Amino acid sequence: MATRNVVKKEDPILRKQSRVVTKFDERLWELLDDMAETMYADEGVGLAAVQVASLKRAVVVDIQDGRGITELINPVITHEEGTQYEIEGCLSIPGEYYETIRPERITVEYDDRHGQHHVEDVEGFRAVCYCHEIDHTNGILFLDRLNPDPHDREELEEMARKRRAEKAERAERMKS
Ligand SMILES: [Zn+2]
Repeated sequence: MATRNVVKKEDPILRKQSRVVTKFDERLWELLDDMAETMYADEGVGLAAVQVASLKRAVVVDIQDGRGITELINPVITHEEGTQYEIEGCLSIPGEYYETIRPERITVEYDDRHGQHHVEDVEGFRAVCYCHEIDHTNGILFLDRLNPDPHDREELEEMARKRRAEKAERAERMKS
């Protein structure tokens, strides 16, 4: 494993469409391993292959919620609902953090590193990260998703509190 250079926002490659992965081979696995190492070295929560100058539809995510790394190959969002606001940054755009508008819940279909197909429903911050990284595979940056009328910090914190409370309530309902 090795870290790779992360391309920065001026690099035109970030605006390119990545290509569908058809070979789930050792070259792909090496790329995914290097992407993970690069993401952890830069203390990011996600990284797309295009950010290390590889135009493959491949993404790694680790939002430090105990699940560990998730690898999304050829990810496609097939359903989205709701709205959430989040302060986002990007390893390709260091030092810049702005509020974006994202769906609250999404369904994503993707392959894993062995080509096995998965369908997953995610919400909250994981949904934000998946959207951010999947955008990268389509040449879209979080700067294209900014909320033109951002909330102040207290409003954002209040919304986050509400989301956590709703999530806890849903989890409680599913138990009973
Ligand atoms: Zn990014």
